[in-house]
Amino acid sequence: MNILSWYFNKSFMFKMTAGFVIGIVLGFLLGEDSSFLAPLGKLFLNLLKMIVIPLVVLSLMVAVNHSSPKELGRIGAKIFPLYLLTTAVAIFVGIAVAYVTNPGAGLTLPADAVVKPPDNPNFIDTIINMVPSNIYMAFSEGDILAVVFVAIVLGLAILFMRHSDDPKQREMGDLVFRITEAGNEVISKILSGILQYAPIGIIGITANTIGSQGMDTVVALGMFILTAYIGVASMVLLVYPLILKVFGVNVFDFYSRIKDAVFTSFATSSSLSTLPITLKAAEKAGIGERVAKLTLPIGATVNMDGTALRFGMAVIFAAEIMGMSISFGDLVTIVVIGTMAAIGTAGVPGAGLIGMSIVFTQAGLPLEIVALTAGINALVDMVFTCGNVTGDLVAAKIVDQSERKAALKAGIYYDHGYD
Ligand code: ASP
Repeated sequence: MNILSWYFNKSFMFKMTAGFVIGIVLGFLLGEDSSFLAPLGKLFLNLLKMIVIPLVVLSLMVAVNHSSPKELGRIGAKIFPLYLLTTAVAIFVGIAVAYVTNPGAGLTLPADAVVKPPDNPNFIDTIINMVPSNIYMAFSEGDILAVVFVAIVLGLAILFMRHSDDPKQREMGDLVFRITEAGNEVISKILSGILQYAPIGIIGITANTIGSQGMDTVVALGMFILTAYIGVASMVLLVYPLILKVFGVNVFDFYSRIKDAVFTSFATSSSLSTLPITLKAAEKAGIGERVAKLTLPIGATVNMDGTALRFGMAVIFAAEIMGMSISFGDLVTIVVIGTMAAIGTAGVPGAGLIGMSIVFTQAGLPLEIVALTAGINALVDMVFTCGNVTGDLVAAKIVDQSERKAALKAGIYYDHGYD
């Protein structure tokens, strides 16, 4: 009993760090045998996935009702250019860091791996498919963009009903709104419970990831791994702080408030599974409810700075292995292709490898090099996902700052939306 209350009273971050360290130690000690711990991690990811759809739907419906269609449009018009810009910058940083570290030096193209090019995602299809022909299918397949669309439509319908001239509509709108709010509370309660289990799940994920790495591959691709970490560190410690500073944000304070989400993204390698914790972190970091709940679910699927950085560095990596030189024109093309591919990459573990195949196919680079990095993907996926989630929170914070400033200028009180 004592040990349980000790456990419940410890901070989330302490327990997560402890889980991570225990996972690393077990992974090293047990090697491949650590796979028996994998179910502990799978259970944690399943729990997160279980609540992510209801959480997005209910919290977005509530947020829309605390907002107005005009405000939603304005937030959208601010966040998308920011996503594009930071993604392109991340590819550029990936290219620049790889030029310094030379991750491909001394490596040769593996001759044996035969790799099939993936289907190219069609941009128009992605947009059209945001409007699902079947709501239940969108929910059951976890198609987050379609889910966001449905949630906004439902939220707006309720909002209009609540402000209708017809008292009957108002009454029903209010009723559905209250039920939605209550449902949202229920999901938050479940999330608190899941977070108590999180550190144990992290032990399972980390032990299995570390234990299943072939040490020879890790050593051979050491520079590739190092470049990934330096690249994301450059984004998190240089690029984002610079942007945040311009918008008057206290960088240190901001990072210390979002650390739970950053850490969870690192440990789970999934922006989507981290989303419940990202939303909680946004509240802690003072990002207004409407901005957070509208932008973060979309960001978890389309804004992938870490993944984009991977594409930039991977192209240089490949060019080094092939002994090719890359012109400035090629670099611009890579930034454009990479940005599109990053938008199309899902926020789940391993998705960046598929995106990398798409970039390589379009850039005419051999897919065998993608296969070459697959062996250590788990190690770099962690840090790229960390870049993805940090980028989502940074973009949300900037939009929130700009909304606050606009309200101040107009002499309107900025209601952050939380109780
Ligand atoms: N794992 C990443 C994420 O969930 C996507 C990727 O593989 O790059 O954000």
